[in-house]
Amino acid sequence: MITSGASRLAAQNLAIADATVYTSPHAPALHHATVVIHDGTITAVGQHVHVPQGADTLQCNGCVVLAGFWNAHVHFMEPKWDDAAHQPAEKLEGQLQAMLTHSGFTTVVDCGSDGENTIALRRRIESGEIAGPKIYTAGVPIFPAHALPYYLDGIPVALRSKLGQPETPAEAAAFVDKNVALGTDITKLFTGSIVKPDQITPMALPIARAAAEEAHRHGQLVFAHPSNLEGTRVAVEAGVDVLAHAPEATRGIDEPFLRKMVAQHMTMIPTLKLFSQDKTIAQIRDLVNQFHTMGGRLVYGTDTGFLPDYDQSEEFRQLSQAGLGFREVLAMLTTAPAELFKVASNQGKVAPGMRGDLTVLTEDPASGDPIAFTKVLYTIRGGRVNFRAQ
Ligand SMILES: [Zn+2]
Repeated sequence: MITSGASRLAAQNLAIADATVYTSPHAPALHHATVVIHDGTITAVGQHVHVPQGADTLQCNGCVVLAGFWNAHVHFMEPKWDDAAHQPAEKLEGQLQAMLTHSGFTTVVDCGSDGENTIALRRRIESGEIAGPKIYTAGVPIFPAHALPYYLDGIPVALRSKLGQPETPAEAAAFVDKNVALGTDITKLFTGSIVKPDQITPMALPIARAAAEEAHRHGQLVFAHPSNLEGTRVAVEAGVDVLAHAPEATRGIDEPFLRKMVAQHMTMIPTLKLFSQDKTIAQIRDLVNQFHTMGGRLVYGTDTGFLPDYDQSEEFRQLSQAGLGFREVLAMLTTAPAELFKVASNQGKVAPGMRGDLTVLTEDPASGDPIAFTKVLYTIRGGRVNFRAQ
């Protein structure tokens, strides 16, 4: 499934012809339409558009063109990413395909890794050397003092020693500053840390608040792993922007509490696949549905890269079981994250002036089969084909 450098289209002009196109999550589908990308930007979409001479044309025969997918919760923390500055380009490109581009992702948000290493990987992608998604990164996350999650016991010692566990608000702000200086984009807090399978330690509110304020001062979004009511309350009171997971222990998270989150314009990334084996999965899905029904913004993410199984099918199945239709899921994959990251003026839709980021499927998700979203034919970023199904 690895696209060699030679077969990749380094397209100045790219056209996708005879496609079903969803220009946005709420627009009716265009049939037998063509999408033209010039110099990385979409220049035309429609049934009778002119394809510039010399454009590489992908004859699509009814394939389905959507705006490029985001996965707003991934991690570049497996040992295979180590020394990203010096690993062979083909190896990194193959890994990016297996983990991300093969599932249609053109933009990803790394919610915690060795920031220096992830930024080295990003540099090689952005230089054009390696085909891969746009990466936003949190760098190293911040944990409650003396309360690392038990499931991180296995992570490499070198990374473990870098994990933030500030004991004072000043230390928390300084830790954020250190990440920002490296070039990170968001801040990730464990406001509820699962120290044992049945024990959750919340982050002290003054620490969470100091980290969030410092991140906001630098224009960063703040993501939190909430775990339960207490961890969610700390996130809400600290001014966190995004819950990187639905709270997995839902007890006490009632309607007034969810309304408060919505009123504060918090975003939630459900990561339902992560919880799909839990006894409480039905309650977690209900909570996600309730939050959405109240007007809360949902964004797609799966914890890919913490979960070593990269398949996205279960997430789509769970979202469907949570009562979300394909257009709502498409919004979670495209317009909602673009709005969250304040790039909606040129990302998230298939329209002239938008960046040439497209996910092309062989099956129409309107069919009602939630895993149609996993039937990826091409992943195109900035007019360049980063993945094609063989
Ligand atoms: Zn995660």
